[in-house]
Amino acid sequence: MSVVKTGLTRHQQSILKFLEKLDSPISAQNLYVQLRSTNQRIGLATVYRALEVLKLRGLVQRRTATNGESLYTTVHQHQHYLTCMQCGQSIAVDSCPIRELETQLCQSLSFKVYYHTLEFFGLCAPCQLEVPQSLNEDETNRIPVELSSHS
Ligand SMILES: [Zn+2]
Ligand SMILES: [Zn+2]
Repeated sequence: MSVVKTGLTRHQQSILKFLEKLDSPISAQNLYVQLRSTNQRIGLATVYRALEVLKLRGLVQRRTATNGESLYTTVHQHQHYLTCMQCGQSIAVDSCPIRELETQLCQSLSFKVYYHTLEFFGLCAPCQLEVPQSLNEDETNRIPVELSSHS
């Protein structure tokens, strides 16, 4: 699949190339550090701007990690995740269940869809064993408040 890359600046092209070589999503900050380490003279603001342009061109997609950080990949590295709310670990899901829906929406609403996100949140297997304890701590903290509001 060939992508329209005309009109991109040198920085935007090199960021796109760099993202294509990665096999996992990266934050703008990390991307900046990596680019600098390959001797590219580029500023953090330029990295952010370039990612924004690439996103509007439908070349790059963004997802938000549990810590609120934005992570970027190319749209071709399309991936869904199960994300653990306790430890923040993301487990990649092999398939995309909504490609067909996307095609349908494009056709019926003549909307040009660049990408979609779908993410599942919950607890990973190790964290399922740890959580009851932290839930109990929360409850003991909450009891006095509930009692006082009841009287
Ligand atoms: Zn976990
Ligand atoms: Zn998908």
